[in-house]
Amino acid sequence: MAGPSDVEYAFVLNVSEKVIALSGPLLTRALTLESGRARQLLAAGEWRLTPADAEAAAAVLARLTAPLPARRGAAARTRATDRDRRLQRILRTTVHHLDADAVSPPATALLAAVARALLPWHDAPNPPTASAAPRYATTPGTAEGVAPPTQAGEALLPDLIALFTALTATSAPGTVPLTPPVEPWQARYVGGFRRHTRPAPGVWTAETIGCPRCGGKDGPWTVTCDWRQATLGCRCGMVSREHGLSLSEIWLVLPEA
Ligand SMILES: [Zn+2]
Repeated sequence: MAGPSDVEYAFVLNVSEKVIALSGPLLTRALTLESGRARQLLAAGEWRLTPADAEAAAAVLARLTAPLPARRGAAARTRATDRDRRLQRILRTTVHHLDADAVSPPATALLAAVARALLPWHDAPNPPTASAAPRYATTPGTAEGVAPPTQAGEALLPDLIALFTALTATSAPGTVPLTPPVEPWQARYVGGFRRHTRPAPGVWTAETIGCPRCGGKDGPWTVTCDWRQATLGCRCGMVSREHGLSLSEIWLVLPEA
C-alpha cells in the first residue's frame, strides 16, 4: 500500500487560505489524510502497533470514550465546560504521547494530526496558568478568548473512536508489530519557534530559539521532518538538529497555508 505522496503532503502544508476558509473552524486537513491512511493500512493488515504505540493509542482511546460527568440539573454553562474539558483532555493526552518520543513514526503522524485538529482546546476550558506556558494561535481568523467550536470538535469523536479502537485491536498478545513507512514532510515557516521547559510543577520557561550560526530567530525556516526527528534549515544555510524543540512546538505552530 502506498503512503500519501509528497504531492499530497505539499498540498496539506501549502494549501491556500481560500481553501481553509471552506474547511471549517478546525485544522483537520492532516487528520483527514492520516486517519484515511491509517484505515487503509489497517484494512490491508499492514499496521500492527508496537507496545509503545499500543500504550499511547489506549490512553488516547480512554480519553476519547470518557463519559461526560452526570450532573443532574447542572447549568448549561457547566455542561458546556464539561464537554470542552473532555476535548481538552484528549488533546493533552495526545500531545503528551506525541512529545514523549516513544511511539513509531506512523503513530506520531496520527497523534500529531489529532492534536492539530483539537488545538482550539489548548486554552479551553482551562488555559495554561503560567505565562511562559505554550500558547498557539488556535483557529485561523479568530481572536484569542473566542469560545472553541465544541460541536465541531465532538463531531470528530465517532470516527476517532472507531479508528483508535481498530488500532489498539492490532496489538493483541502474540502478534508481531508491523510498522508501515511514513512519508517525510517539509514546510516553510516564518516566525519564532519557542522552546518550553518545565523546571517545576506549574512553572514554565520559554525561549525563542535562534540559529546557531547567524542567531536569526524569525526564519524563514525550512522544517524537514520524518516523524522521528525534525531539522530546521535557516535562511543562512545552517541546518540544525540540536534545536531542543519538541515536535509539538514545531508542528502546532505551522500555519495551514
Ligand atoms: Zn542562520
